[in-house]
Amino acid sequence: MLNIVLFGPPGAGKGTQSQKLIAQYNLVHLSTGDLLRAQIAEGTELGLKAKQLMDEGLLVPDEVVIGMIGNALSKNQQAAGFIFDGFPRTVAQAESLDQLLTQHHTQVACMIALEVGEEELVKRLLERGKTSGRIDDQDETKIRRRVQVYNTETAQVAGYYAGQQKFHALNGIGEIEAIYTQICTLIDQHKAADAETPAAATREVQA
Ligand code: AMP
Repeated sequence: MLNIVLFGPPGAGKGTQSQKLIAQYNLVHLSTGDLLRAQIAEGTELGLKAKQLMDEGLLVPDEVVIGMIGNALSKNQQAAGFIFDGFPRTVAQAESLDQLLTQHHTQVACMIALEVGEEELVKRLLERGKTSGRIDDQDETKIRRRVQVYNTETAQVAGYYAGQQKFHALNGIGEIEAIYTQICTLIDQHKAADAETPAAATREVQA
């Protein structure tokens, strides 16, 4: 299995790059933001609770998103791998993801972070808000709060993966295609290294 964490602040381009990567590597895209918006659209109790926090640009409780990811992993056991987009956003979520993937006899191959400065993020999200219909994309104060939440609560997740020698950062400003090529190069390096590791072969057999 090939499991990639695509990381970065809101508006960094994770969703755009995920769409290209799932086609290239035949992966399942797991975006906790999308999963939460689906709950809101269905009008579930979970969706109603999450909506208030999301509209304010605040994080939904860890146990909610961890539960959703656990369900999605169980439902997609035949997948060739996953792209995690917008998850994990806290160290507790990262630890839970490791545990969940271990239960499925697999692990995170690498985290790829797209780095984009705050002013560019604000510009991009306000532009996206004109068509996305997302309340959290339409108000500059809320956008800046999301970036602040990223800086204070989420950025430290990078250190978690750096500690496992799995962290890579890329400049998220530039042509979509050029950034995509750099992401593919990193993923291909991991795939090649994994194929050479005896532990990888053992994992495949167990899986
Ligand atoms: P996104 O679509 O990734 O920008 O997420 C939109 C909103 O959903 C965020 O601002 C949070 O309120 C919530 N959300 C998405 N993913 C997570 C997560 N992993 N942990 C907590 N809240 C999340």
